[in-house]
Amino acid sequence: MKSFDVAIAGAGLIGSSIAFELAQAGLKVAIFDRGEPGREASWASAGILSPAPESPAMISMVPLAKASMNLYPALVANVEEISGEKVGFRPKGTIDVFFSKDAIPDLSTLIALHHGMGLKAEPLRPEDARELEPSLSSELEAAALRPEEASIDNRTLTHAMLSAAKKSGVEVFAGSNVTGIVQEGERCTGLKLGNETVSAKWTVIAAGCFSADIDGVKDFAPVRPAKGQMVSLRADGLKIERVIWGEKIYIVPRNDGRILAGATVEYVGFDKQVTAGGIEKILSAAIEVIPEFANARIEETWAGLRPDSPDHLPILGPTDIDGLVIATGHFRSGVLLTPITARLVRQWITERSVELDWERLSPMRFIEARRETTA
Ligand SMILES: Cc1cc2nc3c(=O)[nH]c(=O)nc-3n(C[C@H](O)[C@H](O)[C@H](O)COP(=O)(O)OP(=O)(O)OC[C@H]3O[C@@H](n4cnc5c(N)ncnc54)[C@H](O)[C@@H]3O)c2cc1C
Repeated sequence: MKSFDVAIAGAGLIGSSIAFELAQAGLKVAIFDRGEPGREASWASAGILSPAPESPAMISMVPLAKASMNLYPALVANVEEISGEKVGFRPKGTIDVFFSKDAIPDLSTLIALHHGMGLKAEPLRPEDARELEPSLSSELEAAALRPEEASIDNRTLTHAMLSAAKKSGVEVFAGSNVTGIVQEGERCTGLKLGNETVSAKWTVIAAGCFSADIDGVKDFAPVRPAKGQMVSLRADGLKIERVIWGEKIYIVPRNDGRILAGATVEYVGFDKQVTAGGIEKILSAAIEVIPEFANARIEETWAGLRPDSPDHLPILGPTDIDGLVIATGHFRSGVLLTPITARLVRQWITERSVELDWERLSPMRFIEARRETTA
């Protein structure tokens, strides 16, 4: 029987970054992925690094998001050095753009909300915004700069993270479907791969939106897929430096000249089809923001499945089964939250205490909520 200090289900960005941290701390770690490692949400993502919440429900995540943002530069340097691969980190800030008749009040609300959460956002006159990003439409009414935000090429990051993990001693098993956890009394003692059993002192579930399908995990991680469609464009002579937040879409430039636009949020099960309606919505909104996109080549379209939780917050931490840790439900912020997730899980496993209060994210919140409603 294979035996490890830590066995991880899922080799996306979350599973591989946890493995990397733990291996760097000297533990014997293995990751099991049922498919090709790193080819699900972590591949499909836009890679925007923004600690600003996308809805009021996510405001409580801001301290975690800020902490993760602060860890990014050091993690990038470490992963690039060990893997020998560049990860396309662009700490250049992002720009919000407004075109509607409510542009001025919308801008004021955005600035006030950001300042209220201790996040930087500065109003920009339309002409100043167009000086920073000359391809922005001349119909622009108002804009804001969020100077501390960034982006990263999530595909190269995921590849480099896996490679850095392997170089640090992590064993990666592709095509290994985790079917369940092994439980002995109150303890989790490893993972089941069909008839095979893997023994581990610690077991981490990081199988993204598929985590709930693993036997024994659903009650702790009731995640569901939130589909996102994306488009990649290329246009000669068109230069965009920063992520641009439109009212309906975002635009993300990459170091290799691709410009991404996305994304839809759809609850349609595990379907990853790209649809004409989804792409039409993204492109028409993107052309409104950058009119030159009308002549751009469409290089690629794709869809991925974000791991969403019932309250849209990550599901992170130990369970009441000794040795079982959950790390999923990162929804629209899994790339941003990668460094802090890996750090907290490593701290829990090696020190049994963590530097941030993660009670709000506990997998036990769903079990306790169910007990309360049935009591
Ligand atoms: C279109 C889109 C845009 C996004 N944009 C952003 C963004 O701009 N910024 C941001 O921070 N986040 C963004 N996200 C969210 C982010 O990509 C995810 O939160 C993050 O990638 C989740 O990583 P993960 O490792 O948990 O899951 P995944 O990357 O999905 O990895 C899970 C892995 O588990 C494996 N697996 C599943 N079931 C099993 C099993 N039974 N046994 C073994 N292995 C299994 C899968 O094969 C997969 O490799 C976006 C997501 C999408 C889809």
